[in-house]
Amino acid sequence: MTVIRGATTIAEDTPEEIRGAVKELLEQIESRNFLKRDEVVSIVFSSTSDIHSFYPAKAAREAGFESCSLFSAQEPDIDGGLKLCIRVMLFVEKNETPRHVYLRGARALRKDVAQKFNVAIDGPAGSGKSTIAKMLARDYHILYLDTGAMYRACALACLRAQADVADEAQVCDLMRDVSLDIVYRDGVQHTLLDGEDVSEAIRAPEVSMAASTVSKHMSVRMKMVEKQREIAGKMSCVLDGRDIGTFVLPDADFKFFLTASVEVRAKRRADEMAAKGYKVDFSKLQEEIAARDEQDSTRKIAPLKCADDAILIDTSCMTAEEVLRTIKQKMQERI
Ligand code: C5P
Repeated sequence: MTVIRGATTIAEDTPEEIRGAVKELLEQIESRNFLKRDEVVSIVFSSTSDIHSFYPAKAAREAGFESCSLFSAQEPDIDGGLKLCIRVMLFVEKNETPRHVYLRGARALRKDVAQKFNVAIDGPAGSGKSTIAKMLARDYHILYLDTGAMYRACALACLRAQADVADEAQVCDLMRDVSLDIVYRDGVQHTLLDGEDVSEAIRAPEVSMAASTVSKHMSVRMKMVEKQREIAGKMSCVLDGRDIGTFVLPDADFKFFLTASVEVRAKRRADEMAAKGYKVDFSKLQEEIAARDEQDSTRKIAPLKCADDAILIDTSCMTAEEVLRTIKQKMQERI
């Protein structure tokens, strides 16, 4: 059983406002928690004492939550508390970390958990971005968006179609005919190419450099960046990439840039690939990583670069736990 919390406010105490706000809140809770209707066992509402005109539970029933038990209660007046606020607790038949949802100015006390916020983690290959981004997203119950996966998917589509990844017109033509989707299943990102789950295939070694090459093209970047901004605009997330803090979300709430020596990064990548069963030539991998760094940081559009206001962390001699602790500490200092 998981308990998901949420809250929203209404502009005025009318049945229409309450219906609209409750519907929106429940739909957001559902989508951000990947819920199915029949997983919701019970919903408990409370509303501030200035709300009289309609029961939120009744609004939930009208919004289609018919099979779960519903309950509404009114809160006593609290000095300095939010006005016209509806709070909700969903009891859900699922054992997953809940994503609490706060809309329309409603706030929970833990700013880092409740408010919508985005964390940008940029850095070169092997700097530890994805490991840290996943851990952070897990701890803060927010979404993790691996933006590199999108460029990799585009590169994979080109490799499969034997298109020249360096030729923008060819890549662009191909991408017009291919559908690239990012979906989340049980909170884990999956990358789909024409409906096929390519999450594993995009990790093949030959895809890495091809991804770096396709990512140089303006038309490819704009398409990917649009998708990334759309996802980040809807919900709190940690995004990792090369240009999140500088280009995708220059106003991200928190920005980090991770780096490490080429040797350390190549070693991490080699271990990762060996664990997946790939045969690894270490010096070739090191060369490939250096070449990719060079290509990523010298391209014209949105190159790999530490944003002026990002916190730079050299992870060469740090464990993932140490990096995570440092990042969380820096975030707490800013809240
Ligand atoms: O992070 P990952 O190694 O999966 O990224 C693959 C390639 O995609 C990078 O080398 C880079 O060229 C490109 N990329 C990018 N911008 C991002 C994420 C990845 O250009 N935000």
